[in-house]
Amino acid sequence: MQGRLPEIDLNRCTGCGRCVAACEPHVLSLEPVRWQKFAVLHEPERCTACNACAVICPFHAITMRTPRTAADRESGSTTGA
Ligand code: SF4
Ligand code: SF4
Repeated sequence: MQGRLPEIDLNRCTGCGRCVAACEPHVLSLEPVRWQKFAVLHEPERCTACNACAVICPFHAITMRTPRTAADRESGSTTGA
């Protein structure tokens, strides 16, 4: 059962892509936001909450959090910018 989802701090994310490579179900991808690329969570319902992305991020940009609302869950939990 999934409880938590990765919350990506766009102020810390450098777009290095390590979390994308580490995510087994491939629910993370790099997306252009303005002039820079950031990690974005797609299909949060397929996230297994394995924590691999949070552990591998060298910039501590990912925190595993419990979504506050169903809307948070549906839209992912990306914050910042
Ligand atoms: S590993 Fe961290 S810094 Fe790199 S793309 Fe993912 S969230 Fe951003
Ligand atoms: S917690 Fe695991 S499954 Fe979920 S986005 Fe991160 S690496 Fe992918």
